[in-house]
Amino acid sequence: MVGCGLGGLGAAFCLTQAGHRVTVIESSSVIGEVGAGIQVSPNSSRLLRRWGLGTHLDDIAVKPEGIAFRRYDTGERVGFTKWGEVMERDYGAPYYHIHRADFHKLLYDLVSPRVTIMLGSTVVGCDPNSVSPSVTLESGKVMRADLIIGADGVKSYIQQVVSGGPNPAEPTGDAAYRATIPASVMVQDPELREFIEHPQMAGWMAPGRHLMAYPIVSLFEAVARVY
Ligand SMILES: Cc1cc2nc3c(=O)[nH]c(=O)nc-3n(C[C@H](O)[C@H](O)[C@H](O)COP(=O)(O)OP(=O)(O)OC[C@H]3O[C@@H](n4cnc5c(N)ncnc54)[C@H](O)[C@@H]3O)c2cc1C
Repeated sequence: MVGCGLGGLGAAFCLTQAGHRVTVIESSSVIGEVGAGIQVSPNSSRLLRRWGLGTHLDDIAVKPEGIAFRRYDTGERVGFTKWGEVMERDYGAPYYHIHRADFHKLLYDLVSPRVTIMLGSTVVGCDPNSVSPSVTLESGKVMRADLIIGADGVKSYIQQVVSGGPNPAEPTGDAAYRATIPASVMVQDPELREFIEHPQMAGWMAPGRHLMAYPIVSLFEAVARVY
């Protein structure tokens, strides 16, 4: 497995469940995830529950009550779809909001005892065609396996080897900015308090741009501490 992101860890876990021995090769020398929150929809959370992570998710993630769309200029709420228990009822598993680092750690703790993880190891060569496919690391070490999986992200080197050339993501001209705000600060603001007391996916729509916001920790405890 090349790549120890969310995709690589998920695939590695499934392969170990099927009885395979897995080595995960990761270029970063430290384990972690950059970014703020991630939304885990029921198609994912159903699997995560099956993998035994349901209780952990219930402990550290947030189940939003719904999704609300607002006007950017007035803040007027123009649309709302109820989620919460509706997700469980209609899709068989919850919708979660969670910090990316928490999510990655959850998967890492599940997977790491079952696989070999090589950090600080960048794949610079790959031979997918021989009887025994191999990857070459920056150190010069050659590693062979029955199957090589490229879980090395949007700029995947393995994908380039397999498809015969670069296949870069197309620039959209959009930029995404992410930030986190402490819940303890938000509950003290009369206008923001609602977003903590009633966790939701909140969207503000504007011409050519939009803003999405959602809580990513178990905020009831944070709120309780502040009250
Ligand atoms: C702004 C934004 C918001 C998003 N929001 C959501 C969301 O709410 N819900 C959702 O489900 N998805 C969301 N996504 C998509 C989701 O984040 C990605 O699909 C997912 O993180 C991809 O994981 P990955 O493991 O495939 O790749 P990555 O996380 O990119 O991991 C790839 C790993 O491979 C390693 N690597 C790369 N090259 C090599 C090499 N040559 N040798 C060794 N290691 C290598 C990297 O260091 C990295 O650790 C969002 C994406 C963006 C950009």
